[in-house]
Amino acid sequence: MISALYLHIPFCRAKCAYCDFDSRALCGEALEGAAARYLEALLARLDAFGEAGALAGVRTVYVGGGTPTVLGPRLAGLVRRVRSWCAPDELTCEANPESFDDAMAAALAESGATRVSLGVQTLEPAELAAIGRIHTAEQALTAVERGRAAGLDVSCDLMCGLPGQTKENWRRTLGDIAGAAPDHVSVYPLTLEEGTPLARRAQADPALEPDADLQAWCMEEARRELVAAGFAPYEVASYARPGHECAHNVAYWTGESYLGIGRSAAGMLAAGEWDGLAALLGGEPAGAGAVRVRYVQRDDAGTRFDVERLTAREAAAEDLMLGMRMTRGVGPELLGRARALAGEKNVAAAVDEALSRGLATWAPDGRLAPTERGWLLGNELYGLMWDLASDD
Ligand code: SF4
Repeated sequence: MISALYLHIPFCRAKCAYCDFDSRALCGEALEGAAARYLEALLARLDAFGEAGALAGVRTVYVGGGTPTVLGPRLAGLVRRVRSWCAPDELTCEANPESFDDAMAAALAESGATRVSLGVQTLEPAELAAIGRIHTAEQALTAVERGRAAGLDVSCDLMCGLPGQTKENWRRTLGDIAGAAPDHVSVYPLTLEEGTPLARRAQADPALEPDADLQAWCMEEARRELVAAGFAPYEVASYARPGHECAHNVAYWTGESYLGIGRSAAGMLAAGEWDGLAALLGGEPAGAGAVRVRYVQRDDAGTRFDVERLTAREAAAEDLMLGMRMTRGVGPELLGRARALAGEKNVAAAVDEALSRGLATWAPDGRLAPTERGWLLGNELYGLMWDLASDD
C-alpha cells in the first residue's frame, strides 16, 4: 500500500548560495509561464496515478522544492487536486518566509494543507546574506506566527556551520525560534556542494568552510536548547512537540512505500506496486530478485527515470540504516528479518561493533537504538548497517 506522496516544485525566487537542489530561480512572466507548463504536466501525472488507484491509501503528502509557495494561488489548487484523490492526515507544503503571506497561509489551510515547513536557516542578518537567502529574520518569525494563526502545524528548518556563525549567534537563533513556538524544528549542518557559489567562494577563502567541531557543538546545543523548550528529538535532525512528528518523513525512515511525482522527485515502491504502475514509471518490470524499486523522475513529463532495484537483503540493510536515524532505533522484527537475509553471524558482528564503538545501545524494550555518540557519528553507524547489504 502506497502511504506517502511527494510532489516536487522546482522553482525559487532566487538561488541560495549553498543549494544544489533541482530548482530554477525565476520571477515575473518567466516564472508564470514555466510554472503553468510545469503544473500542467504535474497534474496530468497526479491524475494518472489517481486513476490507476495508486493514491487511495495515501496518508501523508509533502509538497517540496524548490519553493512551492512561489506558485501563488496555484499551490492551493494543487492541494485541492491532491485531496480529490486521497484523504491524507498530514499534508505539508514547504515555504520560504518571503512568499508565505497572509493570503497564502489562509489559502493553504482552506484547501486542506495541515502543515507548513518554513526555510528559516538562521535569524542572523549577516548569515542570511552570506548564504544568499532573500528573506529577513523578521519575515521568518512573522511567517511562523502566520502559519500558527492560520491553524497550520509549523516546522522550521535551521542550518549550522554558516559563514561567520558563532556560538553566541547560534544560541540566539535557537532561543528566538524556540520563543516563536513552532511545532517542529529540523537542524542541518551546512555542507558545501560542488559547483555551488558558496563552494567556489570557499575555495578562494577557506574561512568559509564549515568547521566540523563547531557544527557538532551546534547540533548538541540545539538538542539541549530544544529539549529544554519542550521538543523531543525523534530523528537525527528532527525535533517535535509531542504528537507533531512529521509522519511523512517517518514513512521514509521506516521502509514504507512512497510515490514521488515531478522532476527530481524520488519514490520507493515494493516490487509488486512498481509492476502495477510500471506503465507510468518507464515500463520496465521490477524483475526477478528485486523486492523494492527506488526511482528518481528525470524530466517534467515523467518519461525518464533513474531506477535502482534492491534485493530482499539490500532492502533489510537499508531499513536498518534508515531506522537507526530515528531516536527509537530498530525493533526485534526488523533485526530478525535482517538476520534471516544477511546471516545471523553478520548481523551479530555489525551490532557488536556498533555497541563496542558506543554508537548504539539496547533499549529496555528490546530495540537497538543510537546513542548520543551514534547520533553525532551517524555515518559510522549507518555504514555498519548498510554493509550488511552484501558479503563484499
Ligand atoms: S529556497 Fe531552497 S530550494 Fe530554493 S534555492 Fe534556496 S535552498 Fe535551494
